[in-house]
Amino acid sequence: MTVTLRFAPSPTGNIHIGNARTALVNWLYAKKNDGQFILRFDDTDVERSKVEFAEGIERDLRWLGIEPDRIERQSTRFSSYDEAAEKLKVKGLLYACYETADELDRRRKRLLARGLPPIYDRSGLRYSLKEIAAFEAEGRTAHWRFLLPNYEDDPFTTKRTEVHWDDVVRGRQTVDLASMSDPVLIRGDGTYLYTLPSVVDDIEFGITHIIRGDDHVTNTGAQIAVFEALDAKAPAFGHHNLLTSADGSGLSKRLGSLSIANLAEDGFEPMAVVSLAVLIGTSQAVEPMKNMAAMAARFDPQTITKSAAKFDMAELLGLNKRLVHDYSYDAVSERLSALNIGGGEEFWNAVRPNIEKVSDAADWWAIVNDANPVIDDEDRDFISEAKALLPDGPWDGETWKKWTALVKEKTGRKGKGLFMPLRKALTGQEHGPELATILQLIGPEKTLARLS
Ligand code: GLU
Repeated sequence: MTVTLRFAPSPTGNIHIGNARTALVNWLYAKKNDGQFILRFDDTDVERSKVEFAEGIERDLRWLGIEPDRIERQSTRFSSYDEAAEKLKVKGLLYACYETADELDRRRKRLLARGLPPIYDRSGLRYSLKEIAAFEAEGRTAHWRFLLPNYEDDPFTTKRTEVHWDDVVRGRQTVDLASMSDPVLIRGDGTYLYTLPSVVDDIEFGITHIIRGDDHVTNTGAQIAVFEALDAKAPAFGHHNLLTSADGSGLSKRLGSLSIANLAEDGFEPMAVVSLAVLIGTSQAVEPMKNMAAMAARFDPQTITKSAAKFDMAELLGLNKRLVHDYSYDAVSERLSALNIGGGEEFWNAVRPNIEKVSDAADWWAIVNDANPVIDDEDRDFISEAKALLPDGPWDGETWKKWTALVKEKTGRKGKGLFMPLRKALTGQEHGPELATILQLIGPEKTLARLS
């Protein structure tokens, strides 16, 4: 059987680095096992799902280096869900309930006040035809719950029913089906909650592994029961830890700055985002992977730790910087041209140790072309002497060395006292790329002007 995984976002917002983690983990697992990766849009909520968000998710995945083998949309598959719901009803495993949200809330509170677990009492199974007629006369419509297999003969007498699975990430897991309420599969307005469509699709698309956030561990217990009720074998499951923001709060889909679209727009390298999204919260070192093949070789779901992992922008920038420092000119020349950055290979080699993002090279290119010289009062005479010693053109890569040797000899200055005033006069900055290349690119005319 072909290993088949899926990433199943709801297209109700942009995806962020935490969602990217789920997508990447599934993609890498599929690729490592010569498998298939399906992008499945969980768009049964037609009000909130938007085509633009679905397009954005496809674009963001492509940016990360993920090309789905197949794309599916739940909004086109309602007939399959209706069929499955019918099958469960016929088996007596999907039953109508008429409680309002308020009534359920009050019941839960009463149970909690008595120190009891707030589990639904299956009143829906007890309604008489008369009661149902009365509810309907009131204008209530049924929502439908799945009857969990957590009892022997009498559904009102539940017993501990353990569901086990060998989690691809967390090892052996156990959920007790008697500790949860029968899940609602269909809302009062007839729309499906995520559970049933997800299971139906996982069966029909031949999903062999489901890897998702550990907020789904309890769902997995109930979903395994739904797989079995639909006469299917549940796939393997894995639950990875979640990413939180630096303050420990969850990353929300609406959190713009950490959306993949924003990180792309801010000039981050896809492999920096990929490396962090996959390696953070594992027992492995967080290092920049150069490409997806290297990432796949490094990826090991069993190294994912159980506690949540904190996303740190400084860590992302650090990875980005390490990738950029290693880029050859050929790897970036087209991007430099698109940013109107000249100076060729020499300029790139000079600036790359000083930048965190490729686009930062534009700041240095701007300085080559135009800078506000900074000359401190105590350095004025020194700068005039240095100016008088500038070699005649044409300049080459050796000019800086020759010039500063002369200036050193003539003025007696050395080290920082020699170089810093020159750097500040030439670039207006206290730090920056090797001046040997920068001086040559600035050229005699601008250099003379900046030293005045
Ligand atoms: N749409 C669901 C979610 O985003 C999918 C969960 C799953 O992978 O089964 O939470």
